[in-house]
Amino acid sequence: MTIRPRVPCECTDPGCPAHLGAHTCREVTYPRNVLFRVDMQDQSGTVFCHECMADALDSGLYSSERWEE
Ligand SMILES: [Zn+2]
Ligand SMILES: [Zn+2]
Repeated sequence: MTIRPRVPCECTDPGCPAHLGAHTCREVTYPRNVLFRVDMQDQSGTVFCHECMADALDSGLYSSERWEE
């Protein structure tokens, strides 16, 4: 049996359509579903569930590329 670790979605955008009006998302996702801020040196990244990831990418504030100097 394969164990697939899940972690909570770290999306905290109350305007996110996946949990509109709620500050935090209750979904769980895979730890590798990480996006990085494009407007700051985001080394750790943020874990997103599938729906939040789509919205975060759509916003243009996040990228799947890690910040490189
Ligand atoms: Zn989410
Ligand atoms: Zn969200």
